[in-house]
Amino acid sequence: MTRPAYRMLPQATADSTAFWTGGADGELRIHRCHSCSRLFHPPVGVCFRCRSRDVAPEAVSGRATVVSYTVNHHPWFGDAFPPPYVVAIVELAEDPEIRLTTQIVDCPVEDVTIGMAVEVAFEHHEDVWIPVFRPVQGSVA
Ligand SMILES: [Zn+2]
Repeated sequence: MTRPAYRMLPQATADSTAFWTGGADGELRIHRCHSCSRLFHPPVGVCFRCRSRDVAPEAVSGRATVVSYTVNHHPWFGDAFPPPYVVAIVELAEDPEIRLTTQIVDCPVEDVTIGMAVEVAFEHHEDVWIPVFRPVQGSVA
């Protein structure tokens, strides 16, 4: 699968910078609440469960499971982001309530399945590292 030459990039905020730049260190960083100990996403300054402001990003394993996906065939960005590509929702290994909308890469689109074990990889564009996911090594025949 060809990686795109162009992406619409997020504008990181004070709360989301750790998420968007963790890839520089090879880390997927997810916010954890230190009051109720739960992870949460997207990253904001307040825990949505207990309202604590004692929250901070921390590195997670980067392992996840595909729980839903679709294959895009429309050339929304022409040759800069060529289809087909997979847009997926993955659940993090640490907590299945933490879901990321992402892209599955390094895998033919027809090989993606629900329940597939994936791991994070990063695409570096300007000052952000986009978390994408690829099959765990050895998990695809
Ligand atoms: Zn909390």
